[in-house]
Amino acid sequence: MELSIHQASKQLGEVFPYAWQGQLEEQTYGGRTVRFVGEATLQGTVVGDGEGFTVTGEGKVTLSSVCARCNEPFEEPFAFSFEDRFVKAVLREEEDESYPFEGDVIDLTQAFMDELFLQLPMVSLCKPDCKGLCPVCGVDLNRFRCSCAEKTRNSAFDALKALSFEDKEV
Ligand SMILES: [Zn+2]
Ligand SMILES: [Zn+2]
Repeated sequence: MELSIHQASKQLGEVFPYAWQGQLEEQTYGGRTVRFVGEATLQGTVVGDGEGFTVTGEGKVTLSSVCARCNEPFEEPFAFSFEDRFVKAVLREEEDESYPFEGDVIDLTQAFMDELFLQLPMVSLCKPDCKGLCPVCGVDLNRFRCSCAEKTRNSAFDALKALSFEDKEV
């Protein structure tokens, strides 16, 4: 994911578009592993100011995910955008919220992955309204019906009846 800054460093203040497309290796961040399906894309702009470069990007990936509700594997498209600063390694302060670079090329991989994991939802769902698994009998409620919910509802209704009966007695 290498971005040439040759032109941008010669014409400071000018905005240059870039685009990247390719395969990404499996990544693990803070105990979370993501696998990529097919090619990822990244496009954006780079502009130089003499000390460093501001890079914007719009990333698009497809993840091989497992639904947090029903445990089914599925392909999860995910898009995110970012704006990060890259400062020449020799000029960069330790506490800077920027990425260091050297030479004529900026490697965007680190920033891309940081932003991806930062913006990725905590859980993956195969669809927003996934019904998940029945907590009682464990069937996949997207595909099957069970009567557990009905039983629970009936017992709740019975409890209500008992309550209103008691109310009348008082
Ligand atoms: Zn699901
Ligand atoms: Zn059930």
